[in-house]
Amino acid sequence: MSFPMTPAEARVDLSAIRDNVALLRDRAPGAEIMFAVKADGYGHGLVACGRAGLEGGAARLGTAFIREALELRDAGVTAPILSWLIPPGEPLEEAIGRDVELSAATVALVDDIAEAAGRTGKAARVHLKADTGLTRGGATPADWPAVVDRAMARQSDGTIEVVGVWSHFACADIPGHPSIDVQLTAFDDALAVAEKAGAAGSHVIRHIANSAAALTLPQARYDMVRPGIALYGLSPIPELGDFGLRPAMTLVARLALAKRTPAGSGVSYGHLHVTDRETTLGLVPLGYADGILRHATDRVEVLAGGRRRRIVGRVCMDQFVIDMGDDPLTEGDEVILFGDGSRGEPTAQEWADSLGTITHEIVTRIGSRVPRVYR
Ligand SMILES: *Cc1c(COP(=O)(O)O)cnc(C)c1O
Repeated sequence: MSFPMTPAEARVDLSAIRDNVALLRDRAPGAEIMFAVKADGYGHGLVACGRAGLEGGAARLGTAFIREALELRDAGVTAPILSWLIPPGEPLEEAIGRDVELSAATVALVDDIAEAAGRTGKAARVHLKADTGLTRGGATPADWPAVVDRAMARQSDGTIEVVGVWSHFACADIPGHPSIDVQLTAFDDALAVAEKAGAAGSHVIRHIANSAAALTLPQARYDMVRPGIALYGLSPIPELGDFGLRPAMTLVARLALAKRTPAGSGVSYGHLHVTDRETTLGLVPLGYADGILRHATDRVEVLAGGRRRRIVGRVCMDQFVIDMGDDPLTEGDEVILFGDGSRGEPTAQEWADSLGTITHEIVTRIGSRVPRVYR
C-alpha cells in the first residue's frame, strides 16, 4: 500500500475495526452491538469508523452529542444511532426528525423531548438512563420512578416511544470490583420499575455493558453491549491481555530534520536533556497541539530506522526531538510513534502506561491537524 507524503498521519486500518466487531460478536453472543463512535471515533474518524463497524456487524452506533449523530446522518449513515449526553439547547427537533434516538434521565428532559417531538410531528425514540452507581449521568433510584412515569405518560400521548432502558458501569475494567454486582442488582431493580410501568417487551432494549463488561461479564450483556475502545483494537483491561483485538491506528511522522550535535548540547525548551556524547538528533513534526502530551518528555519511545528511540527534551507545540545515535537516519525517514507493535514499535497501551493514563486518552487526543488515512 502507498500513502501520500505528509509530515504526519494517523493510519487507520478499517479491516481491524471490522475484525474486532466480529470478535466481540463471538465473545458476546446474542447481544446486539452498539459501537461507541463519540469523539471522532475515538480519534480514528467518526464516519469511516462508524461505517466499518456497521460492515463488521454492529447493529447501531452510539455518540455522546447529537451533533455527532447528525454528522453521521449527513454522511448517509442510516443505522440506528443513540446520543446520550444532552445539555440544554441541543437540537432536539432536528435529532428527532432525523431518527436520532435520545437518552433521558430527568422529567424535564423527557418533557423537552416530548415537546420537540410534538413540534416535529414524529414520536421521539428514547432510552431512559438509570444511575446504578456510576454517579455521573442517569436518574438515581429515588428519581427513577418519576422519570419512567413521565416517559410512559408521554408514550400514551404519542410523543415518545420508550425503546431502551440503560445504565453505565463505574468499574467494569477492574475485575472482581464489588461495585459490579451492586450495579447489576440496581439495574435489575430499575428494569423492574420500568417493566411494571409498561416499558417492557422486545422493543425495549436493555443495555449497560462497555467494552470491559462486554468481554468479561456475560451476565451484563442483556440485549445489547456498547463497546468503544475494544473495537478500535485496544484492550479495555490491559492486565488481562489484548483479548485478540487488533489496534486499528498507527501514528507516523516523517523526520523534518536530522543533525549531528556535539556532546553537552541542551536540547529543546528548558534544556531538560543534555547530550552526553556527539549524536544525531531527529526532529519529529508532531507536538502537544497534536496530542503528544507535553509530559511525554523523556518518557516514551518511538520507532525510527528499526529501533526504539526515546523522546529527549521538552515536547513542544509542533515538534519534539529524538536521539538517533550514530544511525544514518535522514530527513523524510519514517518514525512510527505507536501502532500494533508488529514492527517493534510501541503500542498505544505502552504510551498510556508510560504516561499514567488509558489508551482512550492517547488516541482521542490526536489533533485535527493530523490527517486520518484509511486502508
Ligand atoms: C464511551 C462509552 C462507552 C464505551 O466505553 P468503552 O470503555 O470505550 O468500551 C459505552 N457507553 C457509554 C455511555 C460511553 O460513554
